Amino acid sequence: MKPAPFAFVRPTSVAEALEALSREPDAKVLAGGQSLIPLLSMRLAAPSLLVDINGIEELSWIRSDDEGVRIGALARHAEVEADPGVRRVQPLVSRALRLVAHPTIRNRGTTVGSLVHADASAEMPAVLLLLGGSVTAASAQGEREIAAADLFVGPLESSLRHGELATAAYFPALRPGQGVACDEVSRRHGDYALCGVAAVVGVDGAGRVTSARAAYWSVSDVPVVVDLAEVFADGEMSARALDDAVDLALARLEPGDDIHGTAAYRTRLVGVLTRRVLRAAYDDATPEEGSAA
Ligand SMILES: Cc1cc2nc3c(=O)[nH]c(=O)nc-3n(C[C@H](O)[C@H](O)[C@H](O)COP(=O)(O)OP(=O)(O)OC[C@H]3O[C@@H](n4cnc5c(N)ncnc54)[C@H](O)[C@@H]3O)c2cc1C
Repeated sequence: MKPAPFAFVRPTSVAEALEALSREPDAKVLAGGQSLIPLLSMRLAAPSLLVDINGIEELSWIRSDDEGVRIGALARHAEVEADPGVRRVQPLVSRALRLVAHPTIRNRGTTVGSLVHADASAEMPAVLLLLGGSVTAASAQGEREIAAADLFVGPLESSLRHGELATAAYFPALRPGQGVACDEVSRRHGDYALCGVAAVVGVDGAGRVTSARAAYWSVSDVPVVVDLAEVFADGEMSARALDDAVDLALARLEPGDDIHGTAAYRTRLVGVLTRRVLRAAYDDATPEEGSAA
């Protein structure tokens, strides 16, 4: 199939893009096009105007400092993944990006585009939610910061409003004593996951668990974060605590059936990946103890 007819503009500044977006109520932003172009071709989306932001140089940047990682709307997945500052300040961002699709798609797709596309099967929305990050949205009326907790409202639905352009995203830094990990299972390398898990585990100087949170993708209509600290009340990363963590997570998730996998299989993956990723995040926070284990 071919896309329905649409008008096309290629602004060179954010101001021009916002003007174009405010003009047409059903205008759509075109970033990397890795999700939007297939949707247009299948006529699952039929905007009257496409606002191609690829000529806006001021959106192409990546910055890291002690607070966290900030990326502009035109930073490609591959650039963010390879950025030394990102790897140092918040390694979970680069580790999760390695799970996103194939290198060719990562060369073109944008991380901010992936966040506002709000696919519950995508890695980066879950990571943003886990870390408590945010997205900056600009419109002709001004700018607002949308916390990750308010961004993902339904399947493929973000709280971005008509006329808004997501200009940047912010991922808070890894804190001392924290470790991070992520993993997923997909049918073929580079496919969307059947189930994915990321975790942040905090430990004290004696290697005792002080906090534990996990994020899940592909097992609900929206990414889900579960606070698992209560199962580690005695501070031990034990087999029993991991079993309890799985039960706690499953109480919050809704693994479903589709043509790629059954609900029972996804439930099993939640168990396997929760244990594996929590243990890996703990080892990441306690490298010496981890390598000796
Ligand atoms: C074969 C294949 C496999 C893939 N596998 C994965 C995967 O495993 N995991 C994963 O996470 N993704 C996967 N993707 C999607 C990929 O990561 C996309 O790059 C990403 O979802 C969207 O980014 P984009 O820049 O391409 O956005 P586009 O396709 O250009 O846009 C997507 C949507 O977001 C909106 N949008 C984009 N940027 C902005 C902005 N700055 N402001 C406002 N609205 C905006 C668009 O209007 C559109 O509605 C896959 C894609 C393909 C084709």
